[in-house]
Amino acid sequence: MNLQVEMKLNKDQAIKAIFQGTDLQECIHQAGVLLSHDGVCGNCKKTEFELSSRKSDGNLFTEFTCKSCGFRRRFGTYKDKSGNFLKEWEPPYSKAQEPTKRPPQRKVAPQQDNMLDSEDVF
Ligand SMILES: [Zn+2]
Repeated sequence: MNLQVEMKLNKDQAIKAIFQGTDLQECIHQAGVLLSHDGVCGNCKKTEFELSSRKSDGNLFTEFTCKSCGFRRRFGTYKDKSGNFLKEWEPPYSKAQEPTKRPPQRKVAPQQDNMLDSEDVF
């Protein structure tokens, strides 16, 4: 079956995505990356976002970015590659924080043990 999710990013843009799964639970699992975005910036509480992705060293980085304060929420990929999930809000990139230059340390909350940072997926 298919699950269609519509999401308003900002006053000019909205996206519509269709997720496929064998049943509703699987569709919701697939759509979780969008469904878990509550539409409010975790930092400034504004509601205007951009959705963007970029490739760096062969890795794909996808994220919601707040148009007001630049805080961002990156997509992660489940270890079993069954879908994506949304990470917590992070401050804007600075030069020192470019993903390719970051040391390989990872902050993993206990409940995220089965999740993998997107930069670890090739
Ligand atoms: Zn913000």
